[in-house]
Amino acid sequence: MSEVNKHESERNLQLVLEEFRNYQQGILPAGPGARSLTEFFAGIDEKLDPAAASAPKIQSNDRDVLNLLTKRAKVLHLGPANYCWFTDPSRALCLKLAGTPTADRPLVGMCDSARCPQATHHPCHRPVWAEHAERTKTFLGQLGTPRKTERTRLQADHDRALRVVAEIDAASATMHEESS
Ligand code: SF4
Repeated sequence: MSEVNKHESERNLQLVLEEFRNYQQGILPAGPGARSLTEFFAGIDEKLDPAAASAPKIQSNDRDVLNLLTKRAKVLHLGPANYCWFTDPSRALCLKLAGTPTADRPLVGMCDSARCPQATHHPCHRPVWAEHAERTKTFLGQLGTPRKTERTRLQADHDRALRVVAEIDAASATMHEESS
């Protein structure tokens, strides 16, 4: 069990490092939790930037970066279509929906990442959302006119998937706009 936990911790740390590097290149997170994560990365970046550092304590090598990211990596949970930053159970939408607001782990199976303030979407999640948008579009096309409730639900699902894809694209377009 401890081997599994160790493996998970290392994987999470690498994922956070990857997203931090993305942030430094202008590829920002999207989703309801994007602002909080971006602010966190900005804080780390400031600590690493000699010009912005207020004290002569300047951290710059990879080990130091990883140390700064470790706390955040500990609250990361992986959803199939999002990252879940489980910093505060009382803000977890899945726990609210399940009626267990004080649980110490998120209910990833009940995740609604497009609405939860602890969720972020990244370019690695784009294919899942794009595929979902395609699939719901196909289902909508096959649905008979009388199935109004089903159509409304599918349409909302489709719109949500398209919105998430557009947000991921917009958040990662910053760099391309700046360099063009
Ligand atoms: S709804 Fe999703 S992102 Fe939010 S806390 Fe639950 S699992 Fe995490």
